[in-house]
Amino acid sequence: MAAKKLLILPGDGIGVEVMVQVRRIIEWMAKRRNVAFDLSEGLIGGSAYDVHGTPLADETLADAMAADAVLLGAVGGPKWDNLPFQDKPERGLLKIRKEMGLFANLRPATVLDALADASTLKAEVVTGLDIMILRELTGGLYFGEPRGIETLPNGDRKGFNTLVYTTPEIVRIGRVAFDLARKRSKRLCSVDKANVLECTVLWREEMIKLQQTEYPDVELTHMYVDNAAMQLVRNPKQFDVMVTENMFGDILSDCAAMLTGSLGMLPSASLGAADADGKRRALYEPVHGSAPDIAGKDMANPLATIMSFAMCLRYSFNMDEDAELIEAAVKNVLKGGLRTGDIMQPGKAKVSTTVMGEAIVRELDKLK
Ligand code: NAD
Repeated sequence: MAAKKLLILPGDGIGVEVMVQVRRIIEWMAKRRNVAFDLSEGLIGGSAYDVHGTPLADETLADAMAADAVLLGAVGGPKWDNLPFQDKPERGLLKIRKEMGLFANLRPATVLDALADASTLKAEVVTGLDIMILRELTGGLYFGEPRGIETLPNGDRKGFNTLVYTTPEIVRIGRVAFDLARKRSKRLCSVDKANVLECTVLWREEMIKLQQTEYPDVELTHMYVDNAAMQLVRNPKQFDVMVTENMFGDILSDCAAMLTGSLGMLPSASLGAADADGKRRALYEPVHGSAPDIAGKDMANPLATIMSFAMCLRYSFNMDEDAELIEAAVKNVLKGGLRTGDIMQPGKAKVSTTVMGEAIVRELDKLK
């Protein structure tokens, strides 16, 4: 089997600490499951600025382009807050996403039984929740032209943005959505605002065409975005895979994230276009940031990053069994009562980042 080229970019703050725990799992996989990765590590964000004078050096970007997958921690921190705009750590993140052409953002929202009480919603509404929101990431309202703020002849000012999608842009995100649905329960809900916005009338027409021509085995439904927001908090378990426009997805995925109640538990994946062999550029990262308030204290929850690595195994390397093993280890460790501070509950044992990482590896040993 060809070597699996994995680039690790820990970034700043707790990004560095949580990535140490992922490295433990990678080592475990090499030792116990005979899965070897061709690993390299690079700098991004503030740590890259300190060394290279830029938040993403050209060589690091070239390494990312050549890798089969990139695993990222988080970027940013007060040390770099006052840098000029183009040097800020977050610019490194935006640049790598853009250059890699990552147009599909996968945000699963899963509620593990042990954490059902962490949600602000009633436990019966969220227990067992397992949905996937797919957000289009490089088009739509956030990138459409024309955009800007103008002063009109009468002195009034006008601010404007454009919601625009071409058929290829809709079809490529549609295919990712249908493929995801195929890997799950074969149900896809496409979210739009086709009662008001022409652009999303086109979106809906293209989704229907795609279903009829390429994915007749997947059940496709449609929902207006306002209703989708309501349904997500009313009865989120009705959904499986949802696909939507960039801004709608930004809002809905944060809403879904809060169903789970904890930032430290949320993984994500961003995928690019498939090449001739069906291989996609891919970047996996936790949803949380660099958490300067707890950085360097061995307090961060490493599970979002560990589960981002599980997503990497599933979506970049087709290693579903190994991904499930890691997810099962996470579930069992939580069931056993270990908690980092962010998910601490009465009667549970509060542990450090390191202890949580070690516990996952011990559980992997048991499961194997
Ligand atoms: P944040 O996600 O870093 O932190 C928000 C709160 O959640 C903090 O109280 C933090 O301690 C807590 N938290 C986050 N992740 C945690 C974890 N794994 N375990 C335990 N607690 C956790 O967001 P912020 O405070 O708004 O931003 C801090 C810095 O991170 C800023 O510089 C921001 O620009 C950057 N940021 C980066 C990313 C990214 O790299 N993808 C995302 C968001 C924010």
